[in-house]
Amino acid sequence: MYTNILRHPGPTPIPKKVQLAMAQDIYSHRSGDFVELYREINKRVKPLFGTKQDILLLPSGGTAALEAAAVNIVSPGEDVVVITIGAFGDYFVGICEKYNFNVHKLAIEWGEACTEEMLTEFLKPLNNIKAVFVTYNETSTGVLNPIDKIAKVVHAHTDALFIVDGVSCIGGTLAEMDEWGIDILVTGSQKAMMLPPGLSLVSVSEKAWTAIEENKTPSYYLNLLSYRNWAEKGMTPNTPAITLIYGLAAVCDLIEEEGFDQTVARHALMRDMVRAAMRSLNLGLLTSDEFASPTITTILTPEGLDLSDFLGHLKKEYHLDFAGGLGHLQEKVFRFGHMGYCFPSNVLEAISLMEAGLQDFNYSFEPGAGIMAAQNVFLSKKNTLKTR
Ligand SMILES: *Cc1c(COP(=O)(O)O)cnc(C)c1O
Repeated sequence: MYTNILRHPGPTPIPKKVQLAMAQDIYSHRSGDFVELYREINKRVKPLFGTKQDILLLPSGGTAALEAAAVNIVSPGEDVVVITIGAFGDYFVGICEKYNFNVHKLAIEWGEACTEEMLTEFLKPLNNIKAVFVTYNETSTGVLNPIDKIAKVVHAHTDALFIVDGVSCIGGTLAEMDEWGIDILVTGSQKAMMLPPGLSLVSVSEKAWTAIEENKTPSYYLNLLSYRNWAEKGMTPNTPAITLIYGLAAVCDLIEEEGFDQTVARHALMRDMVRAAMRSLNLGLLTSDEFASPTITTILTPEGLDLSDFLGHLKKEYHLDFAGGLGHLQEKVFRFGHMGYCFPSNVLEAISLMEAGLQDFNYSFEPGAGIMAAQNVFLSKKNTLKTR
């Protein structure tokens, strides 16, 4: 079976080089080979997190890493703030409520970002906040929260630990964990990291380690202290996703070859191309330019278009696979993923096929307008890009 053109916010396409790296014979996670591999990975992933701290490798999806971040630092009954701007922010709400933390929820309208003003107001009457949780890139809406600014507000008004879900953007956008004051940053493998699902990456600040050492909530498989102890030996407490870690080394090769600043610039350019195209097709965008995600764009379903039919048609007729909306936005939006193993050429391809689908559905627009707009953005910046 031929594959579809997967323009989802995860899982995302996997480069051939990464697939081949994963096709190697397996070795033991207690062998010298693994120790060497982990030590190498640990060094090479740090720039993507912007940290000097170790990178812990959990054999899990992103959600388990979010849960690990929460359960290792907070005890039941302690006060936490969860900033939620969409479906994935709500994961943190769900996790914190499940563990009986005292949750102060700052729920912001879907499509908006958390601003410094909103958070400052929200934090004013609160005391003794143990941790503030937030999503960096909200995958359900395509909003990139201004994490550096949010971090400043958190540290100016509280002594809380600042916990960030970077699952759908780390590897595709800049993160400066140490400089911005992020205490735990987590990501998953199947989004901008160009890997299959099943591996998550976690980094923890000195301040958060102290809180973890003092924390009384039990956890066994997600116990970050045991991950730290084993990481010192270049290993993990249990059998890790060894194959995916082979793949991760190849991902590091690709990103280093391109240059991470170039990877970040490529994602920003793809964002701008998609947004220009949608505007030229008279399609609405859920988010403002200011907070638009570099990895995923959320497009409003035009009046009169049956979204399920349209997305089904694109997939069946053109093998183009977009993601629908989540939660209350289910029929109202669809999502165009442009993260990881995705280039301006892939964006042009998807826009072109999308236009074909729109013609089939008698949507009124000037054929080629989207492609031309995206191409113009591409042409204006292509010389600044190494990888196209
Ligand atoms: C995908 C995603 C998750 C959940 O990751 P899983 O691997 O599905 O458990 C969490 N947060 C964000 C922002 C995501 O995009």
